[in-house]
Amino acid sequence: MDSQEFRKHGKEMIDFVADYWDTIRERQPLPDVQPGYIWNLMPNEAPKEKETWEAIFGDLNKVVVDANTHWHHPHFFAYYPTANSYPAILGDILSAGLAPIGFTWKSSPSCTELELVITDWFAKMIGLPSMFLNQDPGPGAGIIQCTASDSTLVALLAARARAVKLHSQGQSWMGKLWKSDIVNKSWQLIQKHSSISNGSQAAHDSAKMINPDSSLFPRLVAYCSDQAHSSVDKAALLAGVKMRKLQTSRGSNYSLKGETLAAAIKEDRAQGLIPFYVVATVGTTPTCAVDDVASLGKICQPEGIWLHVDAAYAGSAAVCPEYRYLTAGTELVDSFNFNAHKWLLVNFDCSPMWFRDATEAEAYFSVDPLYLKHEHQNTAADYRHLQIGLGRRFRSLKAWFVIRSMGISGLQTHIRSMCVLAQRFADLVAADSRFEIPAPVHLGLVCFRLKGENAASEKLLKLINEDRRIHLVPAKAHDIYFLRLAICSTKTTSDDILFAWKVICELTERVHEDII
Ligand SMILES: *Cc1c(COP(=O)(O)O)cnc(C)c1O
Repeated sequence: MDSQEFRKHGKEMIDFVADYWDTIRERQPLPDVQPGYIWNLMPNEAPKEKETWEAIFGDLNKVVVDANTHWHHPHFFAYYPTANSYPAILGDILSAGLAPIGFTWKSSPSCTELELVITDWFAKMIGLPSMFLNQDPGPGAGIIQCTASDSTLVALLAARARAVKLHSQGQSWMGKLWKSDIVNKSWQLIQKHSSISNGSQAAHDSAKMINPDSSLFPRLVAYCSDQAHSSVDKAALLAGVKMRKLQTSRGSNYSLKGETLAAAIKEDRAQGLIPFYVVATVGTTPTCAVDDVASLGKICQPEGIWLHVDAAYAGSAAVCPEYRYLTAGTELVDSFNFNAHKWLLVNFDCSPMWFRDATEAEAYFSVDPLYLKHEHQNTAADYRHLQIGLGRRFRSLKAWFVIRSMGISGLQTHIRSMCVLAQRFADLVAADSRFEIPAPVHLGLVCFRLKGENAASEKLLKLINEDRRIHLVPAKAHDIYFLRLAICSTKTTSDDILFAWKVICELTERVHEDII
C-alpha cells in the first residue's frame, strides 16, 4: 500500500468507524456467535499472494464487527465501561502513524515529555497532592501504564524491593520517613535515574548471574480487601508472595478500614511474617465500595508498608469536585492508579499511575545496557524504569486530544450525566417491592437483586443474557448474589434506562412463573 492508497483507504476506514458508531443502536449488545465461529469464515492458511484492500475490507463485518461484543451499545451495562471518543481515536491514529517507542527520553522526547505533562494534568484534575507531580521538586512521578493490573504489579514489586532492603539491611523505616522528600529534584523525573542506573550494569554486560535476594519472599505478606479485583490476586501470584484478603462487611458497605488491617498485621507479625504491601480499592468491582484510604494510610505510613490505591473505575469521577472524596487520604499513599480508559473518554489503554517516590521503583527495575544509554539520561526522564516492558506506545496523545477537546468541564458533564442515569435506574428498582438494592448506589453502578434466595436472581440474569436485548453481569459480595447495572455507553439515554427496566420486569415475571 502506498501513500496514495493509504489516503484513500484511510478515509474509508474513518467512514467505516463513524458508520459503526452512527448505527450501533441497530445492533444488539452481544453477538449471536458461538465459540469457534471463525473457522468457517477464514482460510486455514495465510494467503500466499497479496490481496486487494477491497477483499480485506469486505471481510470486516462478517469476521470482526458482527462477532464483536458492542461495549458502546446503549444497552450494554456489563462490567464497568471502557471509554472511547472521536478525539481519542484520532490520537490513536497519530500514535500509530508516528509509531515511536518511547522507552528512553532520547527514543522519543515528545512521547516522554507529553506524558510528563499529561500525567500532571490528570493528577491536578482529580485532586492528587502535589507531591505526585512530575513538576514537583520532590521524588514523585506520574507515568501512563497499560492497565490497572500492571500498576498493581509494578507497585507490588517496588514494595517488595523496599521490604527486602529494609529487612535485609536491618534498616529502620522510621529513620527514613520520606527523607527523599527533601532531596531536591529538577522538574523532570530524574536526578533519581542517574544515581541508580549503575546497579545492574555489571550483571547485564558480563556473564554474571542476575540474582536478586529472594530469601525473604516466603515471609512477605500483602493485604487487600475481600472485594479487591482479581488482578490484585494475580499480582501476588506472579510475584510469589502471600496476599491476605481482609474481610469487609455489608454493614460497613464493603469498605476496608484501618483497624481491620492493624489487627491482621499484628497477627501476622506474631507468626513471623513481614507485612509489606496493601492495596486499597477506591470503587470495587462488585459494588463500587471505597476503602478507607486515610485510616489505612495511618497504619501503613509509619511502618514503611507500601500503600497502593486501585481506583481503576472510580478515579475518573474525581474530576468533579463533588466526588473529590475519592482521592481523600492520598497524601498518605505510596502509589495511586486509575484507568482513564474506563471512564474518561480515552480509549484503551491509558492507565495513569503515580509514585510518591519513584526512585524506589527505579532502583529496583533499572537495567542499563549500553544500547539504551544516552547523553541526557542524567537530566531527562526515562520511563522504561517504571514499567515492566521496555517498549511503550505514545499513549498520552489520545489523552491530550480528549482533554483539550472536552475541557475539564466537558469531562465533568460526561461523568455527571452517567451518574444521573444510574440514579434514575436505582429509583425504578427502589420503587418495585420485588427488588432490593444490596449495596448503596455509587457513581454509575447500581447493584440490585430479587428479594429472597440467590436462585431467583441467578435465574433472572440467565434470562436477561439469553434474551440479549440488554447485557449485564452479576457479582457476589460474600454470599449475596446480585446483578450489576453499570452505565457504560455515552449513547445511553434516559429512554434506554426505561427500556432496560422494561426488559428486566418482563423477564422477572418469567423467573417467578418458573420457580413457583
Ligand atoms: C477494571 C478494574 C481493574 C482492571 O483494570 P485493567 O486496566 O483491565 O487491568 C482493576 N481494578 C478495578 C477496581 C477495576 O475496576
